[in-house]
Amino acid sequence: MQAFTAGRLLTPTGAVEHPLVLVELGRFLEISARNSQQISADVPLSDFGNSVIAPGYVDLHIHGGAGYDVMDDNVEALPTIEQLLARHGVTSYFPTTVTAPVDITLRALERLANAIEDRESDRKQHHQQAHGDRDSRARPLGIHLEGPFLSHARRGVHPPENLLTPTLALFEQFWQAARGRIRIMTIAPELGGAPEVIAEAARRGVCVSLGHSDADFEEAERGIAAGARHATHTFNAMRPLDHRTLDHRSPGILGAVLTDPRVTADIIADGVHLDPAIVKLFAQTKGPHSTVLITDAISATGMPDGRYRLGSFEVDVRHGKCTANGKLAGSVLTMDRAVRNLVQFAEWDLSQAVAAASLNPARAAQIADKGVIVVGADADFVVLTPEGKVSRTFVGGVECSG
Ligand SMILES: [Zn+2]
Repeated sequence: MQAFTAGRLLTPTGAVEHPLVLVELGRFLEISARNSQQISADVPLSDFGNSVIAPGYVDLHIHGGAGYDVMDDNVEALPTIEQLLARHGVTSYFPTTVTAPVDITLRALERLANAIEDRESDRKQHHQQAHGDRDSRARPLGIHLEGPFLSHARRGVHPPENLLTPTLALFEQFWQAARGRIRIMTIAPELGGAPEVIAEAARRGVCVSLGHSDADFEEAERGIAAGARHATHTFNAMRPLDHRTLDHRSPGILGAVLTDPRVTADIIADGVHLDPAIVKLFAQTKGPHSTVLITDAISATGMPDGRYRLGSFEVDVRHGKCTANGKLAGSVLTMDRAVRNLVQFAEWDLSQAVAAASLNPARAAQIADKGVIVVGADADFVVLTPEGKVSRTFVGGVECSG
């Protein structure tokens, strides 16, 4: 057993001042106020002073970092990305594909499924020996399939020659290659065949996310009726809200996503993809329970400016901006920065911004034991300065080093 204390705990649905958090076998065993509890002398106690303990962050949309892309066929890629993620407070993530030729996507899905299964069996073995992972770093929980079922009109930098019309047969092929590990799928609901694929994916427990879409309001609502419950990098690669004239009023997919209470939605709060005023508008519209922060980070994250790969194409990175042929191509955002930006842009308190990076994404992806500090949940947590800077990260109760 281990004990942790700090100035404050954000669960994040509530706060405990001077908390005492007990961890055993990789899970939270007890959460209380420190003065109400005597801990026995043989339990090691870590005291984080006036810092804040918060749930580990969950990134639903990340393509890479530290020079590697999650689609790279290289055994170093995921462990290196996972160490970078942990340094920025992310304890769980969903490696995200970009549109590529089908055979390349299938091979990437297979490798990612292997990586997810390896980490799972690692974890079981080590917990039987009553300690966590030897090599503690962010864990991949499932795959986010971004493309090929995207709109040509709103493809962003996804290669047009590889975009495909959704079919159940194609979805099944991806599903088999990933051995059922696809947990999030971004899809444009207006494409022929999309409603059937959305319904089937949702039936299998996939978080179906509307995005890269030129859908009008009705098409988006049909996607939601079919089972879509989330939206991908809202505002970016989406038909805009349009109310130019009396006969030209088109709320579009944004009108649906922003107002439909069944839908959670994510944003890239790097100050580049969205103006801070739009981040505030979004936060006020979707509210503290349905706002999700993502990074959409690419291999250049944590690296100097230069040329980097995203899936199978190249991206220029300069002054925190990633572009390919003049279009935005992912970000070099880290989740701890996104949390602090949301606090600043939306004037939210730290606990609301933390929820947008932890509990809300875990709920959107239907992951029960993550993103929240409650008895029985996985002991994935971060230690933050009162300003939200990450000082330490723990996965399954074990500190991530370096
Ligand atoms: Zn995208």
